[in-house]
Amino acid sequence: MTEDARYSHTSREHNRLLLLALVQAWGGKCYWCRTPKTFRDLQIDHIIPRNPRGGAVQGFDVDSAENLAPICGPCNQEKGNGEFEDAPRVDAMRQAAMSHAPAVQRNLARFHKNDAVVKALLAVTAADLASPDVAESIEAFGAAIMPVFREKFPRVVDARYTKDYTRRFPPVEVEGRQSQVPEERALVELDAEGQRALVILEDVLGMPMPDALRDIRSYFSRDIDDEVKEWLRRSESRQYRSADLHGRPSSNRIGVYVYEVRYADDQVTLTGELEGSFAAYVEDAERDYEDWSPSRLADFDFIGPFGATYSREGLIDAYMDVGDPEENRWRHSMAMLDLDE
Ligand SMILES: [Zn+2]
Repeated sequence: MTEDARYSHTSREHNRLLLLALVQAWGGKCYWCRTPKTFRDLQIDHIIPRNPRGGAVQGFDVDSAENLAPICGPCNQEKGNGEFEDAPRVDAMRQAAMSHAPAVQRNLARFHKNDAVVKALLAVTAADLASPDVAESIEAFGAAIMPVFREKFPRVVDARYTKDYTRRFPPVEVEGRQSQVPEERALVELDAEGQRALVILEDVLGMPMPDALRDIRSYFSRDIDDEVKEWLRRSESRQYRSADLHGRPSSNRIGVYVYEVRYADDQVTLTGELEGSFAAYVEDAERDYEDWSPSRLADFDFIGPFGATYSREGLIDAYMDVGDPEENRWRHSMAMLDLDE
């Protein structure tokens, strides 16, 4: 096995260790959508593709750690379809890869011991868990190993992990053009207590997590609309001379991030953050006289905490707060560019 932090064209075993080293260095996330993923859901991506259509990049090693990052299946597929021709973003990711490269090399050197334990653990990460033989062996050995892990490596057993309930939609055709429908982002972080609470929510209270997430979106949508309207009203005269909402904030996709699931007194409480965006016609209170138009269509992002408690009766208690939305000037300028086409 080669010990270089380079993509190998011959050794799958080496690439498996390299992926593990990359996943650790990049914080357990897909580098493109920034979604936390488990190791098994990630692959090695060449940030600048190995065979760019424009020909080879002179004097540049596409297989080095400086050009590698962990990517999730859906992002890899979209990237493969050539939908990511996003040069500024690729440049930024290359910068990130260069800064992560020393950590990748260090991680790899640590893993790259040819001893039996590393090889055995590596085999487990590559195993087909759907195969009954594999499942049987893992159950047998797992029962023997878990007490040791619990005692010696509690951090491994209690490690939080993220379940990804994001809903992705196929592209739709609008006026002859393929358009990507925004995904419905939904992530649930679970620690050991959260995993137990999730079982109670789903199996005892009869509320599958995807239903709970849908429930939360629709329950809070009126609150979000009201809170945003109220925030715009308060901003008038301070930040803005005038501010008029363009469409309802809840008609855009709402991201749901559940950071904690807890069970107590026959109730399961989910807490986390809601995230979304909206547009409004605003006129700045401090007018820039060079500006040709006093009023503009501005894009805003909001994010705020929420809590939702379920019992056998369903949703019995809920709160949310969208906080102070922030104008996204970057997206606004991108939208202007699009109009010029
Ligand atoms: Zn991704």
